[in-house]
Amino acid sequence: MSYVDEIIELVIKKNPAEKEFHQAVQEVLESLRIVIEENEEEYRKDAILERLVEPDRQMKFRVSWVDDQGNVQVNTGYRVQFNNSIGPYKGGLRFRDNVNTGIIKFLAFEQVLKNALTGLPIGGGKGGSDFDPKGKSDREVMAFCKSLMTELYKYIGADIDVPAGDIGVGAREIGYLYGQYKRITDLYEGVLTGKGIPYGGSLGRTEATGYGLLYFTDAMLKANELSLKDKTVVISGSGNVAIYAAEKAEQLGAKVVALSDSAGYIYDENGIDLTVVKEIKEVKRGRISEYTTYKPTAEYSAGKGIWTIPCDVALPCATQNELDINDAKALVANGCIAVTEGANMPTTLDATEYFQKNGILFAPGKATNAGGVAVSALEMSQNSQRLSWSFEEVDEKLKKIMEDIFMKVDDAAKRYNKSGDYVTGANIAGFEKVVAAMKAHGV
Ligand code: NDP
Repeated sequence: MSYVDEIIELVIKKNPAEKEFHQAVQEVLESLRIVIEENEEEYRKDAILERLVEPDRQMKFRVSWVDDQGNVQVNTGYRVQFNNSIGPYKGGLRFRDNVNTGIIKFLAFEQVLKNALTGLPIGGGKGGSDFDPKGKSDREVMAFCKSLMTELYKYIGADIDVPAGDIGVGAREIGYLYGQYKRITDLYEGVLTGKGIPYGGSLGRTEATGYGLLYFTDAMLKANELSLKDKTVVISGSGNVAIYAAEKAEQLGAKVVALSDSAGYIYDENGIDLTVVKEIKEVKRGRISEYTTYKPTAEYSAGKGIWTIPCDVALPCATQNELDINDAKALVANGCIAVTEGANMPTTLDATEYFQKNGILFAPGKATNAGGVAVSALEMSQNSQRLSWSFEEVDEKLKKIMEDIFMKVDDAAKRYNKSGDYVTGANIAGFEKVVAAMKAHGV
């Protein structure tokens, strides 16, 4: 049996219930097959793959808190510190009811390679809880965050592990978490990123993942003699990533016609009005269906189905496995030319293969959504230097980082005669850097 197949089997055997983790490992190792087979003897001897797929450590803990009715609620907290070969563990916290070990592990594993692609000194980790802030009062969210941090603080630190936001964790949650860390440790340090501007946050962090996604998409289209100008774009989700992806897409001359949330999607043929979306989502914490109250000519449809809307560019920015083979077929049939992932692993394996076989320009989240963690690393730099950079300075660095990532990914694919296969390119470029550091550190 080949080394790659052996490791895929081992991961499934050792972590039987973790299907998202199996999927991520399989996707990465399949695309690395070409590199691994070239160096099989050496990698086997050093157990490189066994070490790559086993986290350094994983924490799972009880989080008790009191709701507004005075009842005690119990959730589970997670932090997976996957690999710190090139820097302190870095990766977000996700608060969502479906969070479990498999989801956090797949995210942490992907984060290792993603962070390597940024060119910045950050290792990979991820965490979160099966707590969902949706429908909770501010006081309940605060109670939960303070309780979570009362355990989490033991494992993190500005030079050890630096969490950030992800689904369900925005500026409000980071504020409560930071307040509790500071209270327990008395340390005013850059232990979390995505902080508010008054207490050490970086300008441009809110926009970073969405803007970065578009900088990458723009670079990819240009390299293929295309551009975003006058293109029709469909974006799933209406959270942090989706909103700022839409904003930058419009700035680059495209028209965004659809957004969604987990209940349904809106279609506005005149182009989505982002001022309205920000009011609904960022101020009122409402549902995307409310958009039609502000814009009666727009249409709202309940359920999944956003990918049946014809578009040139599709940007899945909601969650894992949200775009399946049927969605991929609909996009291709409707003339879509490019799909770049804003979310982590939003496209299923068969859908990815379908895009690639049909000549769609397809780029994976670990490369395209790295702008968020990259600006988080810039926030860490500003915190250590006790400095704040301007929005323009951060945005310029972000753009350069995303263009560099595209170049690295493109170059790695070409080196292995896989020109245009950005999935393979991203995995190879990330893997090469992490493995070089692991080998340098010895066993
Ligand atoms: P948010 O919580 O801000 O927004 C998530 C959006 O996705 C919401 O509109 C949510 O709808 C929707 N959504 C969640 N689950 C589903 C589902 N099962 N089906 C359809 N829609 C769904 O999260 P972010 O924007 O921060 O994150 C989105 C994705 O981007 C995630 O995969 C995350 O890991 C990834 N990412 C985020 C980064 C960041 O900097 N924030 C960095 C890199 C990656 P609803 O309101 O109904 O829940």
